Amino acid sequence: MAPSALAFSSPSSRYTDECPGEILLKEFRRLKPGLDALGIRFSVSRVKFRIRGGKRRKPPYFACCHNIRNLGNVNVVAFYYPLIGDWDLMGADVEGYRKRIHSALREEMIHAVQVITVKKRYEQSPDLRNRFKDAETYYEYLLGRIIEELAISQEGEEAVLTAAKLYYEDWTIGSMAKLRQTDQKYHGRDGYLVSELIRQAVQIRFGELTSEEAKGKAWDKHRLFFVGEYGTTENLMKSMATTLRRAVPKLVSLSPTLTEALIEIEGMIQRIHQNQ
Ligand SMILES: [Zn+2]
Repeated sequence: MAPSALAFSSPSSRYTDECPGEILLKEFRRLKPGLDALGIRFSVSRVKFRIRGGKRRKPPYFACCHNIRNLGNVNVVAFYYPLIGDWDLMGADVEGYRKRIHSALREEMIHAVQVITVKKRYEQSPDLRNRFKDAETYYEYLLGRIIEELAISQEGEEAVLTAAKLYYEDWTIGSMAKLRQTDQKYHGRDGYLVSELIRQAVQIRFGELTSEEAKGKAWDKHRLFFVGEYGTTENLMKSMATTLRRAVPKLVSLSPTLTEALIEIEGMIQRIHQNQ
């Protein structure tokens, strides 16, 4: 057992399968060989708050981190307290919680592969090294291009906004201007959402639940949205995720840059699975 995996164990979780620590550990073990094959390090953080945009915020479940500029040192951090906290939020639903953890871990793996493939492409191309001062600048250029290619059509723009509403849990993101504002507010840069759109598309094309869908019942505990005819936030969100699922083939046909990214990421993930 890896030391980081041990950190998930709590005394009570040693005796039963139906504890958040044990479920986390199992899901982590399933993913570990893939992370190892990619050279992605994994660590557990016990911070309770992070300062973001000048405010104290709860950390996410996981974060995929890397060096700025050269995109090196890709690593995944698991935030212990929010991960364990969602067990209660989901009403101790073993299967629901397992799915949620599974999707959240897959999400970070997809993000990590995104960064690794861009870094590799940049480093192997003298032309790209001439045109962009570093790998990060090239990455930002790619994300910007995808937005441009998609926003040309009404359908593409709507899909981007649906993806944004799901990811940010904010139903008021109704325009590209509002999306830029939101990206800036939470991530300090334009185009951040595209990395999440890529991740959602990979999850959908692999036939997996998106992380947003896997949230399930946790949506209705602390959030108050106008849900209208849908009755619950969970239903509204499922319906939006269905819209996004249907839009993916269209997005692929609209944006060659997105298609190229998806093929590279999916290819690398498939090769890892084949070697296991
Ligand atoms: Zn993400």
